[in-house]
Amino acid sequence: METRFGAVLQVDRTSVRILLLSSRVLAATSSPYSLAAFAAVGGAIVVWGMVNAVSAVGAMNSGLDAPAPVPVAAPVDKVGPPPPPPPAFVFDAPLPGRTINSPFGLRQMPWEENGRLHEGVDIAAPAGAAVHVATDGVVLRSGVSSTYGRFVEVVHKDGFHSFYAHLGRDAGLRRGTFVKRGATVAYVGNSGRSTGSHLHFELRNKAGEPLNPALFMGKTFAEKGDLPLKAAARVGRKVRLAQVSKWPEGMKAKMAAQMAEKEGASEVGGQVIRVKGGRVRTRINVVDG
Ligand SMILES: [Zn+2]
Repeated sequence: METRFGAVLQVDRTSVRILLLSSRVLAATSSPYSLAAFAAVGGAIVVWGMVNAVSAVGAMNSGLDAPAPVPVAAPVDKVGPPPPPPPAFVFDAPLPGRTINSPFGLRQMPWEENGRLHEGVDIAAPAGAAVHVATDGVVLRSGVSSTYGRFVEVVHKDGFHSFYAHLGRDAGLRRGTFVKRGATVAYVGNSGRSTGSHLHFELRNKAGEPLNPALFMGKTFAEKGDLPLKAAARVGRKVRLAQVSKWPEGMKAKMAAQMAEKEGASEVGGQVIRVKGGRVRTRINVVDG
């Protein structure tokens, strides 16, 4: 293409030279015969140039239709299988790296006559440690209870509820605040009826039944059907006697009163209930340790 275009230019230069030469010859002769010859030669050159120009343009146009050169491109990565979908449920431990020191299940506190269901797990941690929400959710409520102390409750996908109690303080999140898994919702404390600085952590299903949080903490579940809902709701018959290093405030006094009642002393303390046969028993409302 370029060669052809060059040829056109060459021809045109030659044509110009011939034209100039002819004009000089004509200028010397200036006969009518010579003028006719000049016109004929000039016309022939113009036609020649036009033919060359047309063929050059044609060559350029044909060049546009020519197959594009194969580009030297980087090798394309092989397209692998699509990545697996994210797991349907992911639960973190509210205090990562810390161990459960009082599990879910029947538990009897030293000041109780019978075992009761410990509806969550206790995780020992120093006061002030950040409590992380177990999974994505929305803050449902926060407040203070005489037994649970300061608490925060979060509602999650599929009706799960998580509950964090005996807190030092909450993180000031308002009801309705969306919290991403791992977000700090509160700080560990020793509020309410607590035997030391720890977090009481509960997980409940949509019916409000307590689940064993240990079966969810730090675990992912690909599908809803993988959730261990039945296993987590199961409560073993074995009653574990709680080892308490520090009794809750005023509990020893209540216990002493209870013992006094059993020994036949008259009404001591507040809630004394008389039953048949002259026996008395004291009701102490203990919800959590
Ligand atoms: Zn507890």
